[in-house]
Amino acid sequence: MDSKSAGKSLRAESWLRYADDLGLGPFYLHRGVAHHARDEEPVAASAAGAATAAPAIAAAPQPIALSAASRASDADAKAAERPQIPAQQTPAVEKPAVPPAFVAPVSSVSLFEVRVENDSLERIRTDITPNCTRCKLHKARTQIVFGVGNPKAELVFVGEGPGRDEDLQGEPFVGRAGKLLTDMIGAMSLRRQDVYICNVVKCRPPENRLPENDEIAACSPFLLRQLDAIHPKVICCLGACSAKTLLNTTQGISRFRGEWFDFRGAKLIATYHPAYLLRNPAAKAEVWKDLQKVMAVLGLQPAKRSKTS
Ligand code: SF4
Repeated sequence: MDSKSAGKSLRAESWLRYADDLGLGPFYLHRGVAHHARDEEPVAASAAGAATAAPAIAAAPQPIALSAASRASDADAKAAERPQIPAQQTPAVEKPAVPPAFVAPVSSVSLFEVRVENDSLERIRTDITPNCTRCKLHKARTQIVFGVGNPKAELVFVGEGPGRDEDLQGEPFVGRAGKLLTDMIGAMSLRRQDVYICNVVKCRPPENRLPENDEIAACSPFLLRQLDAIHPKVICCLGACSAKTLLNTTQGISRFRGEWFDFRGAKLIATYHPAYLLRNPAAKAEVWKDLQKVMAVLGLQPAKRSKTS
């Protein structure tokens, strides 16, 4: 098995382990092959792409540009994605005595479609803290950085993972990048306590490296549960890691930054990470345009001091 396949296998194992934790194990029996096939494919970013997606990627969260053509119901979209077998092509063979390992359409198996009934941030926090060891990031962390803010926020910011300051203080976005994010929130006429802020992974990657695929696979289900529990109007991905994770795409963030996507009942937009803005201040203008789009959706007016510092 090469390293790429090994990574995908780890990811599939992490999903399955998480499903077991939720008591969903039987639902996922015999589906390992499906995860591998689906994970190979980047997600199409248009309604046309979603409508013509091959069955192998049908289970992935389909980011759909907010055009009129994209507003078909989920049921219609899923029906269109399922493989259609003309009656005359149905093989006239007897059913095998032992069912094949994979027997169901892929569109029914994604954890992205799984929701925990009556979930809450408190329950998720209990599930994850204080001693989660689902991935190797637990070894070097000081503490789990769960998330902070209004549990009923209309706007959620999602970063990639805690840095040194966050690891020490137990709160996301509290270092220099956090100060800039706070300023950006203020420019939107909001306060930190009005929004919710969290990361894809809850433990600090050593040396502030990017989270690895197996770590994202292990931790991102908690992020999905957080988003479902908060049920915001808008999710703003800060940087490529969170955007790629939630949109399940390998495309660079510059390809879709500032565009709207549908995501589990919310509108999702991706913009640059504040840490990137510290290195590239010229990009602040682009981010401010993105934030203005968010403000328009939320009905916000810019604060008097309307530019990020
Ligand atoms: Fe658990 Fe997430 Fe920390 Fe990994 S990063 S140990 S999955 S809380």
